[in-house]
Amino acid sequence: MKKIELVVPCYNEEKCIYLFYEKIKKIFNELKEYDFIITYIDDGSWDHTMDEIKKIIKIDNQQRIQYISFSRNFGKEAAIYAGLSKSTGDYVAVLDADLQHPPELIVPMIKAIEEEGYDCASARRVSRKGEPLFRSALSRGFYYVINKITVIDLVPGSTDYRLMKRSVVEAIVSMNEHERFTKGIYAWVGFKNKWIEYENVERVAGNTKWSIRSLFRYAYSGFLSFATTPLRGIIYLGMIIVLLSVIFAIKIYFNALNTPDSQRTGYASLMILILFLGGVIITILGMIGEYLARIFMEVKNRPIYFARESLLYKNEDKESDRLAEIKM
Ligand code: UDP
Ligand code: MG
Repeated sequence: MKKIELVVPCYNEEKCIYLFYEKIKKIFNELKEYDFIITYIDDGSWDHTMDEIKKIIKIDNQQRIQYISFSRNFGKEAAIYAGLSKSTGDYVAVLDADLQHPPELIVPMIKAIEEEGYDCASARRVSRKGEPLFRSALSRGFYYVINKITVIDLVPGSTDYRLMKRSVVEAIVSMNEHERFTKGIYAWVGFKNKWIEYENVERVAGNTKWSIRSLFRYAYSGFLSFATTPLRGIIYLGMIIVLLSVIFAIKIYFNALNTPDSQRTGYASLMILILFLGGVIITILGMIGEYLARIFMEVKNRPIYFARESLLYKNEDKESDRLAEIKM
């Protein structure tokens, strides 16, 4: 029997934990060939999220519900990383606790992997019904700009809801950068992915954790994680200024030849010097920026999260794999 592990980041989702579990149980009742495991990642919630999780562990009583509880709020991206890095399922899915990522899409996702030969399947939201206009416009702008200036291609409406094979999970976990931008990482690791489209759904309970401000922060981190193009732009700017100052110098030289001695001023030579040196300085700054960006990428190897408590059922094979690795 194949095991499908569902990684669910939860930040103050007390009302959603049980509803989510019920829904998953209903779906897997019909999927006889598969078993599920839900891994709730409590991202430093301060409501009764943990109590709810412990309650359903008792209710379920089949070692199908596990959790990792963070020492503070590390953010959804860290929660996804924690869940994926501890996962043992044959296929692993990442989805929201609020049922906005329709769990029934798991069925076509499994089909894509098992029957159509894909490595992973991701959900793509095709309508933004029920979302403020301003937010949709901002989001469209974000996708336009990030696709223009970074090395990755993001599909508009793409979500971080995805079911994947172990090879994809391993690739994602091996990218252990601190400032994580999961959608970008998904795009960056590649693999054969099938897009599965769905209409926007409202949250079942509770409130969204995203303010306009945190959305901006998210977009900004997306740019910084994958874009070094702006820095390269600065180098070009510096070089253009140098070039212009040379052209300017030539023009002034010929002007001076036609000007009587008494009317010549020092203005031109000063101007050229300022422009030229300014251009050189900007070019060098841009280059330093490029190196700084690389160092910045490298230096970020702090732990991505700390768990204060967790319950993970060990998969025997996996555990011996890991021990073998340590011995080597
Ligand atoms: N979430 C999280 N940590 C955070 C913020 C959100 O784990 O700091 C979880 C949240 O519990 C939910 C998912 O990420 O399961 C998506 O959050 P939300 O529904 O608030 O975002 P929206 O759907 O409005 O974009
Ligand atoms: Mg939501």
